Amino acid sequence: MAICPVCNGFEKLEATCSSCGKNMEDSGRIMDFYDDYSAYMPIDQMKLEDGYPQDYQKEECPHLLKCPSCGYDEVKFIKE
Ligand SMILES: [Zn+2]
Ligand SMILES: [Zn+2]
Repeated sequence: MAICPVCNGFEKLEATCSSCGKNMEDSGRIMDFYDDYSAYMPIDQMKLEDGYPQDYQKEECPHLLKCPSCGYDEVKFIKE
């Protein structure tokens, strides 16, 4: 099983807000937000649902980044 360095604390995710330029905060894996209702969904359907067509089989870990100062958020794919 592939390991995401950010999830495991080896690396800190750093990004700047494209809206205000401040440092963004890692809110964690985006998959964690879908756990409640996605457990019974086929993975293909999930890809459509969340709007990110990237293939999770490519071992990229999608993280949700949030800007604490303006509230802007974006998803960053971490190579595992
Ligand atoms: Zn991760
Ligand atoms: Zn911002």
